[in-house]
Amino acid sequence: MTMTTDAFIQALPKVELHVHLVGSASVPTVLELSRRHPGSGVPTTEEELRRFYTFRDFPHFAQVYRAVNGLVRDPEDVATLVLGLARDLAPQGARYVELQVTPYAHKIVGMPMREVTEALDLAARRSLEEHGVEMAYIFDIPGEYGEEAAKATLDHALQEPPAALVGFGIGGIEQERTKYRDIYRSAFSAARAAGLHSVPHGGEMTGPETIWEVIEGYGAERIGHGINCLSDPRLVAHLRETQLPLDVCPTSNVCTGQITRIEDHPLPRMLEEGLYVTLNSDDPPMFATTLADEYRVAAEAFGFGKEELALLARNGVRAAYLSEERKRELETEIDALVTGAGV
Ligand SMILES: [Zn+2]
Repeated sequence: MTMTTDAFIQALPKVELHVHLVGSASVPTVLELSRRHPGSGVPTTEEELRRFYTFRDFPHFAQVYRAVNGLVRDPEDVATLVLGLARDLAPQGARYVELQVTPYAHKIVGMPMREVTEALDLAARRSLEEHGVEMAYIFDIPGEYGEEAAKATLDHALQEPPAALVGFGIGGIEQERTKYRDIYRSAFSAARAAGLHSVPHGGEMTGPETIWEVIEGYGAERIGHGINCLSDPRLVAHLRETQLPLDVCPTSNVCTGQITRIEDHPLPRMLEEGLYVTLNSDDPPMFATTLADEYRVAAEAFGFGKEELALLARNGVRAAYLSEERKRELETEIDALVTGAGV
């Protein structure tokens, strides 16, 4: 009996390597927060919240993001977001997540580092116990804020890291980064010296020059997006040779206006060029997607079959900051599914 593509996607063991704490908040999670903080202006009924959450355009997304961010006031709210993500991901076959947390956003609303860390530690334990989803963290600098944000992110990562902190990153508006070049280079160098992996966003909103900068200036070991690499043949050759993983989030790129139509997304070409691509969701509920939906997009918009979908899942597992043993277990599960599905 052959398995439908949908059933295959559902059963495929997945890792999520690129998703943001606030952007991961789904309607049930935001309802918990909006009821905890009444009077915030965020709807407290499910129907109204669903309407508010419906993706319309980028400015509306930014408004939703700010509103949800405004609900994250205490470490307890941070824990609610992490657990909500684990609850949403478990039924999609997700086993492991590297969640991007922005410590600077918590610091500026007065949350002490230690309490944020305790909330992240507790939420990681509960995510595994209650939902079977292993949670790891990446701390990212919001790139438009410069020195103060870089320092806050680094201080938290070095002084009070959660037990599952694996990486150091940078997000936000790429165009704003160049003026803080040296500040960000030295922050990444300090984070790497402390044993953290370098996982910056790059080449999402700007071109190859940003990808070169994260490789040469930040020592990137994996890159968030990297979709604008194809116009630079020397860069494509370098990425192919080094097999530097690019964590691609197709629906996000359409929603933020980087790509006009999903059918024009460069992901299939990136694979054809021999680049290392993983598949991820970025800010899933705010872009009306899920991790499993991104695999459906790959099947429907890019015409990928089970073989290619399994390759994307395997790429995610191999690029994850998991133990070799755990990677092998997940790869074995993927192989068994592929064999059983008669691919
Ligand atoms: Zn991102």
